[in-house]
Amino acid sequence: MSLRSLDLYRDPIFPAILTACFIRDEVRKEKAYDAELAAFVERVKPLLEMENEEPPVLPDAPAVPDEDINFIKIKDLSPANNGSWRAVLLESLPGTRVKRKGDDVSISLETVTLDEVEYVVPFINHLLPVEGTDITVEASKPFRLPWRLAYEMDCPDCDFKETFYLGRHGEDSYMFKEILGEIRQGKVDPAILIDLVQRDDTELDFSRELYRCRNCSTLAVMKRLRLVTPDKTFSAAYNCPVCGERMSQVKRGHIASLDCPDCRKPLNLVSEKQWSGVPETEIIE
Ligand SMILES: [Zn+2]
Ligand SMILES: [Zn+2]
Repeated sequence: MSLRSLDLYRDPIFPAILTACFIRDEVRKEKAYDAELAAFVERVKPLLEMENEEPPVLPDAPAVPDEDINFIKIKDLSPANNGSWRAVLLESLPGTRVKRKGDDVSISLETVTLDEVEYVVPFINHLLPVEGTDITVEASKPFRLPWRLAYEMDCPDCDFKETFYLGRHGEDSYMFKEILGEIRQGKVDPAILIDLVQRDDTELDFSRELYRCRNCSTLAVMKRLRLVTPDKTFSAAYNCPVCGERMSQVKRGHIASLDCPDCRKPLNLVSEKQWSGVPETEIIE
């Protein structure tokens, strides 16, 4: 599920505001339909007991009349525990006093197929409990020995000179704490945040790696973050701190052949050495 598929429902001026569907009296209608089904089964029971009889076709669920579908403005749609979503109502719900404007409400994202195109539609479930947004996550154990190298680079033609501290430090509780802090401040790829909040079987794998901007060649060390769950792994994407374009990870083997981000001359790899795993600037904090 991509969050981008929700852009359809976003307010063009205030993108944090979305329109969600609320079906009035849905529970009452479902009960009426269940009663109808039960009566139907009761009626056809004698037929079912006879042999060689075609099984009767169950009646369709009644379609929701258009006037029962309400479009309600919500804001702050966010992932919540147990695979759910939550948001804040910007309007009171018609026909019920359970939820009013300003209340938190449970949202489900349902896939609706229309003319063979799938749409994800937010639905308001005013009777469901609103789940919390706690995160349960562990640092994944590195499957290789930690490999920490500092690459000292300089440019033969201009003033560019930089040392890139890469790798990770065993379980690295320091970096894990730092990453959790960034998650709390909302500085994490939304695709990763959804699973962190909605599931409780997630692990984070991380390592300092060098990234290069595909557009302006800026070099930056990023905490390469991967979400690991029993069924998938997913890497966070990073954008350039200078121009905003997408960055690509520079593989260790390619670091020696990088060009200068300032003047594009091939950089010199001055030294390549082990380091402690915690940058000195961070120890002082
Ligand atoms: Zn850039
Ligand atoms: Zn240069």
